[in-house]
Amino acid sequence: MELEIGGKRALVLGASRGLGMAIAKSLASEGVTVFAAARSHDKIVDWAKGMDNVHPVQLDLSKLDEVDSVVDTLLKDGGVDIIVNNSGGPPPGTAQAADRGTWLAHFEAMAANLFHLNTRLLPSMKERKWGRIVSITSSGVEQPIPNLAVSNGIRGAVVGWSKTLANEVAGDGITVNVVMPGRIHTQRVDELDAAAAKRTDTDIADVSAKSRATIPAGRYGKPEEFADVVTFLASQRASYVTGSRIRIDGGSIKSI
Ligand code: NAD
Repeated sequence: MELEIGGKRALVLGASRGLGMAIAKSLASEGVTVFAAARSHDKIVDWAKGMDNVHPVQLDLSKLDEVDSVVDTLLKDGGVDIIVNNSGGPPPGTAQAADRGTWLAHFEAMAANLFHLNTRLLPSMKERKWGRIVSITSSGVEQPIPNLAVSNGIRGAVVGWSKTLANEVAGDGITVNVVMPGRIHTQRVDELDAAAAKRTDTDIADVSAKSRATIPAGRYGKPEEFADVVTFLASQRASYVTGSRIRIDGGSIKSI
């Protein structure tokens, strides 16, 4: 299948590692010019060596002035055609333990500043009558994950925003979708398994095996498998998919 996105311009957030990095590489391999953004600009410079169509961008999503400065720079060249919304996950904790300051800080970086960035880049997509916005959330928006109260809550806001926006801009040739990773094997997942092993005084291999056993596919997903779906959603070929939530979870969400 020809994806027909060669020559488009994409902004991929949270692209220093993990899912963001895999998506940035996948889009670049389709001939997209990729602006790969994260706090650790150096890490992007490292993985993007030899890839002429990947441009590393320094951006901390918790800092509004940095968000505006990146948007200003992109708009000088007409903005972007594709936005992949992604960031780090908030720390674990119960709903009862999460204080107001924690909610506000994470809402700012994972939602408010992200919505602001998209709002500023949208007019240029509307002018061209073409755009793709894909937001990475979590399986927790369909099946809230215990002890991840802040993640479950804020990602729910991203889903509500995404669906509302999808309805507003569908007539402008812009699609807006959400993808929900289950357990995709990134460094973060290894770190979470290591933390769980430490907490429960068990072997990391046991923690990981137990976690895999809860997934019908019997394994963690590969970042490349996740990135393939996002790249399809970002392509011309997904022109009639909008306002949707797409699971990429090996079957791990229990409901249909
Ligand atoms: P990760 O921690 O490996 O990568 C997150 C990326 O976001 C990194 O590039 C990091 O530098 C960047 N980032 C973090 N805070 C930032 C900030 N303030 N400004 C700009 N960039 C920032 O995580 P991942 O495994 O690649 O997952 C990506 C997202 O998907 C995370 O929000 C994660 O919680 C969520 N998620 C992942 C899984 C999974 O299985 N990997 C499952 C559910 C949800």
